[in-house]
Amino acid sequence: MAPAFKYVPFYTEVFFECLEKHRDKQNRILELVERICENPKVRPSHFLGFKKGIDLRGKRRRHMSGNYVIIYIVCEECISLGHKTKGYNNCHFCSNKQPNWIIFVAFDKWDDIYSKNWPISRPDFTQ
Ligand SMILES: [Zn+2]
Repeated sequence: MAPAFKYVPFYTEVFFECLEKHRDKQNRILELVERICENPKVRPSHFLGFKKGIDLRGKRRRHMSGNYVIIYIVCEECISLGHKTKGYNNCHFCSNKQPNWIIFVAFDKWDDIYSKNWPISRPDFTQ
């Protein structure tokens, strides 16, 4: 039976670059994306804070085997937790009208993923 509320994935340009860079991980990542879309706000995901001086507040991370980490934003939380107001994700486009989007920001090895504040390209909410 289909869940009552299904999240819809949006991929940033950076995320596509990550998929390209780690072609051997593509299938596993897309499986994980599926699972996150079913239940994005539960453990084992965690909110990020400052990492190595980089402000990653408002974003969630989830670990994957092989020391990989995937970073995503639950748009609904930008509104409900005030992340948009605080400017955490620089996501002026988030609104209550599209509460079911998840923006998949990036994934990479544990050592590399926290090296910068990944740009968030704008989802096309008209889709
Ligand atoms: Zn947002």
